Amino acid sequence: MTLPYRRVLLKVSGEALMGDGSFGIDPTVVKAIAADVAEVAQQGAQVCLVIGGGNIFRGVAAAAKGMDRTQGDYAGMLATVINALMMQNALEALEVDTRVMSAIQMSAIAEPYIRRRAVRHMDKGRVVIFAAGTGNPFFTTDTAAALRASEMECDALFKGTQVDGVYSSDPRKDTAAKRYDTLTYMDVLSRDLNVMDAAAISLARENRLPIIVFNIHAPGAFQDVMRGKGPFTRIDAAV
Ligand code: UDP
Repeated sequence: MTLPYRRVLLKVSGEALMGDGSFGIDPTVVKAIAADVAEVAQQGAQVCLVIGGGNIFRGVAAAAKGMDRTQGDYAGMLATVINALMMQNALEALEVDTRVMSAIQMSAIAEPYIRRRAVRHMDKGRVVIFAAGTGNPFFTTDTAAALRASEMECDALFKGTQVDGVYSSDPRKDTAAKRYDTLTYMDVLSRDLNVMDAAAISLARENRLPIIVFNIHAPGAFQDVMRGKGPFTRIDAAV
């Protein structure tokens, strides 16, 4: 069965790569996500990825301990490059042609981000990993994901998280928490739902980019959700 999307962006948070640990990278988790991405790519969809860096470093957390915020944010962006290299390695082990494109130039290990070149890589069937976020402090990799997905004219942004969608409150703390099947961008903004930061949601809203939130740890979840098999929450414009 062909996939209903031509080109998609998958955002994976850095925390998703930690596995059961509280810091760093669990190679088994990276391998499992790479296998899911490889399946989707082999089935003909064009895939690009944005990986967070929260498993290694966050500028906000460092600033809370007295570090200069912008310096911390640059360190956070470098953390995303480490994660991107790990993911590239796991994808290449599965024989998926992959390119890392970095928003901060580091030509020895990654190509510089050039929009038209990224599109060309994807047209050739390569998986493109966008590293170093937006290249600017005070942003998040969620905003980077909404930005790159808009630039790449993706059909949707898939956000792989630790839970299977967006809930009315934290399902790990509140047993009465309810999962939404669909939400509008305005619902997320006005109810201040904890999905992505407001900059990312606003960018997606302006560019009519649907966001699909799902649990990245369920085996084969990415390919299932691409086919509409739940559970997940879809955020879109009001119909
Ligand atoms: N960051 C940044 N600009 C960007 C993207 C990321 O300054 O465009 C920094 C910021 O310090 C952030 C860190 O990189 O905390 C890691 O990214 P993020 O927190 O989005 O990772 P995730 O929560 O997805 O693991």
